[in-house]
Amino acid sequence: MMESALTARDRVGMQDFVLLENHTSEVAFIENLRKRFKENLIYTYIGSVLVSMNPYKDLEIYTKQHMDRYRGVNFYEVSPHIYAVADNAYRSMRTERRDQCILISGESGAGKTEASKKVLQYYAITCPASEHVQTVKDRLLQSNPVLEAFGNAKTLRNDNSSRFGKYMDIQFDFKGAPVGGHIINYLLEKSRVVHQSHGERNFHIFYQLIEGGEDDLLRRLGLEKNAQQYQYLVKGNCPKVSSINDRNDWKIVRKALSVIGFTDDEVEELLNIIASVLHLGNVQYGGEDSGSAYITTETQIKYLARLLGVDGTVLKEALTHKKIIAKGEELMSPLNQEQAASARDALSKAIYGRTFTWLVNKINGSLAFKVWTRSNASVIGLLDIYGFEVFQNNSFEQFCINYCNEKLQQLFIELTLKSEQEEYEAEGITWEPVQYFNNKIICDLVEEKFKGIISILDEECLRPGDASDITFLEKLENTVGGHAHFLTHKLADGKTRKIMGREEFRLIHYAGEVNYNVNGFLDKNNDLLFRNLKSIYLSIWLLAKLMEILMSKEPSYVRCIKPNDAKQAGRFDEVLIRHQVKYLGLMENLRVRRAGFAYRRRYETFLQRYKSLCPDTWPNWDGRLVDGVSTLVKHLGYKPEEYKLGRLYSKIQCTRTTKLQSSWKGYS
Ligand code: ADP
Ligand code: MG
Repeated sequence: MMESALTARDRVGMQDFVLLENHTSEVAFIENLRKRFKENLIYTYIGSVLVSMNPYKDLEIYTKQHMDRYRGVNFYEVSPHIYAVADNAYRSMRTERRDQCILISGESGAGKTEASKKVLQYYAITCPASEHVQTVKDRLLQSNPVLEAFGNAKTLRNDNSSRFGKYMDIQFDFKGAPVGGHIINYLLEKSRVVHQSHGERNFHIFYQLIEGGEDDLLRRLGLEKNAQQYQYLVKGNCPKVSSINDRNDWKIVRKALSVIGFTDDEVEELLNIIASVLHLGNVQYGGEDSGSAYITTETQIKYLARLLGVDGTVLKEALTHKKIIAKGEELMSPLNQEQAASARDALSKAIYGRTFTWLVNKINGSLAFKVWTRSNASVIGLLDIYGFEVFQNNSFEQFCINYCNEKLQQLFIELTLKSEQEEYEAEGITWEPVQYFNNKIICDLVEEKFKGIISILDEECLRPGDASDITFLEKLENTVGGHAHFLTHKLADGKTRKIMGREEFRLIHYAGEVNYNVNGFLDKNNDLLFRNLKSIYLSIWLLAKLMEILMSKEPSYVRCIKPNDAKQAGRFDEVLIRHQVKYLGLMENLRVRRAGFAYRRRYETFLQRYKSLCPDTWPNWDGRLVDGVSTLVKHLGYKPEEYKLGRLYSKIQCTRTTKLQSSWKGYS
């Protein structure tokens, strides 16, 4: 039965928030999301920004037919989809020869990683291919299961949570075929290797190996087929997850490793290291009367020595002593039990971190296109970074992640607002600038040279003598204590603020307030500083570099929303969603789009597309293009204030596209 246009729109909502009558209302915004979510329409636009709701169920919208539907088609003529964003970026890259990037943001579990995989699959399947390219496509796709095995884990928020940030460049040749790729990883959550909160797991690979590993492999590695045996795997008391099939995933990862080009020896080496970490976790200590630690678990040492290829005695000493320099001489000073245990954990984290980097480097080697040069190729970058995080206890890791999100938000603000403004200026169109919160003030608080939090932290790390996490906090109080976005327990009048711990500082981020515990800040920062010198990692100091990469490209945005905390299909938790709408800045985004003109087309394209809607322009318009467009929009009933014809004769801009849309197809 035919449904009338009005009831259809009533049921499925607007496919672009810009078209909402009551566009300043958050209630209307959320209602539109709710309507669409109920109909499994998880994608909606704000202009060219894609808002994506995690459906928590498999929808039949990612087939080859769907891909074909979006190929080479204009953004507004088909229903909103991640493929439309992918295709649009691809076409801009091809026609304008400009590098693109797709920035995917949202909180943990909102669907960022899935979205980035969909984009990659879209390119792998729809782009032209040659024989060489097919290998590249396979490797690009297969890099995902490998990185996820080693860098993802089950958390309370997401059964497959990425515990590292990823920026991936896909390189295309002049014919538009993908010919290579490059991955930058950053901020791997190494602490997870040795500790997991209740209900969470270690990185997937450990369970995959234990559940799926062949008997003789496990024998060689000295491992038992039981995760409960390993201290590093029992902290969260959650060895099995119903949505995860570790045994099956093991097969997928093994296959992916060989597609990417790992030799059997390299895989064996990799697994030796993974097994070593598990053995390290089971190293136990006893205490001498003197307080010095000694190792009580000989079997582990035996396996470790063999797997890592080191001498058992040397290893034992390394696990119970630290090197000190006294009077110019190197001495081994014994550790107590507690110190030894943390040295063991530090070693495990370091080993795992290095292995992850090695893995990414290997993948990059296999994706590298040998004759690729900047002059004949273009790039589409995909950024999948973990979102803003607030836990009960927030440490250095959350500080880095949240700072990174703060920077990305700034980029979003600058690029969306700036480019809008510039376009109106170029077109000679007057418009009312929109007020928005600029989070630059918070970015400055963190990153400003000499007086920002990072500078102060660096200074404390490099200062010889009594520098500690607490002296760092004191320095912060003295330096940025008066800042509007910074608090500690100390009040200006010398009293204490009861709601805050003595080892904490609070940052008022754009997305909310977070208390950070300074414990471990110096050590963890030293770790980054050290790595930074070796230039292996992209740490927060190199985040600047990432921002530079992104700024040089034309961005597309995907803003992901998580509908509920229960990982359930069909549940629309309004409070949770409203919070995300707020901190993703979607209402501001919408206001900016509305203040401007939502729909822009080159005159030529516009006429070509819509000329059939007006007898004067059909079948052909012979006059100037701008006059044809003018005739057409008048015929469709647009009032003068509803559209503007740009000075550059290039675009039609109108505030309401409903007339066009109802004359054409689609409100879904
Ligand atoms: P994030 O990377 O934002 O933390 P993920 O992309 O890992 O979140 O998504 C979390 C889970 O939500 C996925 O494992 C999957 O089960 C589900 N999910 C996300 N996006 C989709 C989608 N488009 N269709 C179906 N399920 C999805
Ligand atoms: Mg993710």
